[in-house]
Amino acid sequence: MDIFKKKESNVRSYSNSFPVVFEKAKGSWLETQNGERYLDFLAGAGSLNYGHNNAALKQALLEYIEADGITHGLDMHSSAKATFLEALQQYILAPRDLDYKVQFTGPTGTNAVEAALKLARKVKGRNNIVAFTNGFHGCTTGALAATGNQHHRQGAGTPLTGVTRIPYEGYANVDGLSLFETLLNDNSGGMDKPAAVLLETVQGEGGLNVASKEWLVRLEAICKANDILMIVDDIQAGCGRTGTFFSFEPAGIKPDMVTLSKSIGGYGLPMAVVLLKPELDTWKPGEHNGTFRGNNHAFVTAAKALELYWSNDQFETHITACSDQVRATLERSLKRFPELFVKIKGRGMMIGIECNDGDIAEQIARTCFANGMVIETAGPNDEVVKFFCPLTISTEELAQGLNIFEGATEKVASKLIKKAS
Ligand SMILES: *Cc1c(COP(=O)(O)O)cnc(C)c1O
Repeated sequence: MDIFKKKESNVRSYSNSFPVVFEKAKGSWLETQNGERYLDFLAGAGSLNYGHNNAALKQALLEYIEADGITHGLDMHSSAKATFLEALQQYILAPRDLDYKVQFTGPTGTNAVEAALKLARKVKGRNNIVAFTNGFHGCTTGALAATGNQHHRQGAGTPLTGVTRIPYEGYANVDGLSLFETLLNDNSGGMDKPAAVLLETVQGEGGLNVASKEWLVRLEAICKANDILMIVDDIQAGCGRTGTFFSFEPAGIKPDMVTLSKSIGGYGLPMAVVLLKPELDTWKPGEHNGTFRGNNHAFVTAAKALELYWSNDQFETHITACSDQVRATLERSLKRFPELFVKIKGRGMMIGIECNDGDIAEQIARTCFANGMVIETAGPNDEVVKFFCPLTISTEELAQGLNIFEGATEKVASKLIKKAS
């Protein structure tokens, strides 16, 4: 452990919550160098929807490497990339009647967001972007400007400009969309007409706030009526996390652009894309460039994951069943410990429980860790305990994790009683 304290920058963060050294992982389990096992309810912050070292994905990758398949080739054509594009078309886009072109950006989520914002500004010839309270879009300057969280914003060291923030659904009991429409039509409201709106349909880091179908449909209509592009940041909520491949499917909307990263690579390998309506593709070659737009290993596992999990509706059925299982436990906890909990939050397996304060959430997460489970918090004050296990988790493993959670709630509740008496 000493080497990390001595040599690794203070910018490290997850390792502060889980002060052990991990060595191996399989499915929903992490293992430390001392052989202690932890259930993983963080899953790489949503980049391991198909679990650690998924056997089928690993096999595809091993075969590809064994055959000297290209690892890196800038953005040159490769058969691995062709296979990914074909799988995306066949299993995801065509069945959903979505017509998108695919831009491979640098392999991080924030780079996909940067690309989408750049393209929106270029297409519309306008600078302003509308983003929402509690939105999280990444930590490079452009994406950070659209991010609400002050902890992250303060790290910028430079003015974060070009964004107007509007209240998300449910924020401060304000009808954000009415406000947005009013500002659009008010010559003196002070908002420059935006090129695009950028949003998460379920806010991941912002505390699992859910936008309703009605709200999303209304927002899409406002965008259409005012010649504004709609960008859905599905980096965390996509790839099945909310129960469908794209988080916006139940609302029936068709965003102009969609950003994907985290679990799109399938195996935890870095990869990011922007999906864009063909008429928006006004990029000149290399205008948004990047050396690592060609992570062919990720293309191999990404294509395999789409084929394996998205060629029929079995996986979606499993995610729904898992969500019901988590919800049942959380409802019980909510009733049992009103002194700890406020409400259940999220949708699908993007689900969690809001605690009365960040300290309670922190204590629950720390107690879970002491009992063999990695779990994190989210929200403006880290007050939401977030159940982010791999979507491939079994019913038994999920029950085991929920058991650890319930044990932690009992412990934290009894500590509260002791403190009060
Ligand atoms: C994680 C995340 C990002 C940023 O992705 P990075 O790979 O960390 O740059 C952007 N948007 C959302 C919604 C995210 O959850």
